[in-house]
Amino acid sequence: MTDAEVPRHPAAFALWREVQDTRVRTRLGGFYYLLAWLLIWLFSAEPAALLAVGLGGSALFFVLLLARQLHRPGQLESPQQLQRWLDQHWGLLLLTSLCWGQAHAWTLYRAEFADSALIATLATVAFSTAMTFNFAMRKRRAMLAIALLYLPGLVVLALEWPQQRALLVTLGCYLSYLLLVLGRSHREYQATLALELKLLEQQARLDLLSRTDSLTQLGNRYQFNNLFPSLVANARRRGEPLSLVLLDIDWFKRINDEYGHSCGDACLSAFAERLREVFRRDGDALLRLGGEEFGVLLPNTDLAHAAALAEQFRQELARDGLRLGDQRLPLTASLGVGSFDVDQDAEAEAFFRRVDRALYRAKAQGRDRLVHA
Ligand code: GH3
Ligand code: MG
Ligand code: MG
Repeated sequence: MTDAEVPRHPAAFALWREVQDTRVRTRLGGFYYLLAWLLIWLFSAEPAALLAVGLGGSALFFVLLLARQLHRPGQLESPQQLQRWLDQHWGLLLLTSLCWGQAHAWTLYRAEFADSALIATLATVAFSTAMTFNFAMRKRRAMLAIALLYLPGLVVLALEWPQQRALLVTLGCYLSYLLLVLGRSHREYQATLALELKLLEQQARLDLLSRTDSLTQLGNRYQFNNLFPSLVANARRRGEPLSLVLLDIDWFKRINDEYGHSCGDACLSAFAERLREVFRRDGDALLRLGGEEFGVLLPNTDLAHAAALAEQFRQELARDGLRLGDQRLPLTASLGVGSFDVDQDAEAEAFFRRVDRALYRAKAQGRDRLVHA
């Protein structure tokens, strides 16, 4: 499972984590129920005489083992599907516990299993302990499983009270220990999950911060460097258009000189806001590439459409300038626009250079204009 496949939403992550943990922890268990049953049968006084019961029990635990192995969650399931998988898998775990509890009770009850009764009791203790430590993510279900594993044997021991009282009392004490530990395991599991969620959230926040320009809240150069080659690769693979608009504010140094640096900053924010108003499609990536240079990546947009949007942006900016509070600042920008072209652009870098040269020509030809790459 790659990093990208881990769900980001906290509730979805918690469910996904529980499914992964349940899946990993269920793998071993099934084998040991089968093994324990085989030991009980083969170490009984006369295995050959108990052929039907022995084989029947083996077949039952083999089928349960198989069901646990084959019941796998799919990749990238929805939360509803994950929840359904968990419920179904718990059904299997509880069924296995029920069968084992009955098997234990049966071996304690029947004289022909007297020689291997100790094996059955030890296995029951082991399975209940494993349940306590491995499946504490669902406390009530784990408690039910322990009850199914444990109680039938205790009932049989209680029926033979005088002879079995020492064992019964000891197993009772151990059960109380298991229930206490189950509570603690459950809390520890929740605490680890909460910690993991917090880390994930911090990772997401840092990731966003590192990709965002703090002044304009647009993507920054780092984001562009990550995004651009992958969008170009997508466009190449799918044969879909990809357009790039590069924008540079004209004579921006003068704004700083005349009105001060903080006014310059406000201009950059207002400029970014205007970009958001014109390039509004979901897939459009708006970026501040440096100083007063911006870029817009338009996946699935051909040159004519990208150029029309860019020209609209330029004209509206030239007409209205930027509104800062109650004053209006005249401002223009020069733009280069181009679409990725497999024949011209050997790689992403070449495509960028082509559009950058168009922007340079727009400056050279007198600014406040759009030039096609
Ligand atoms: P041209 O039309 O040739 O692009 O002229 P220009 O003045 O816009 O270009 P030049 O590259 O000479 O100057 C860019 C200016 O942008 C210089 C710098 O002070 C200013 N600048 C860059 N980043 C920031 C910023 O974050 N805040 C502010 N206020 N100004 C910035
Ligand atoms: Mg510049
Ligand atoms: Mg400039």
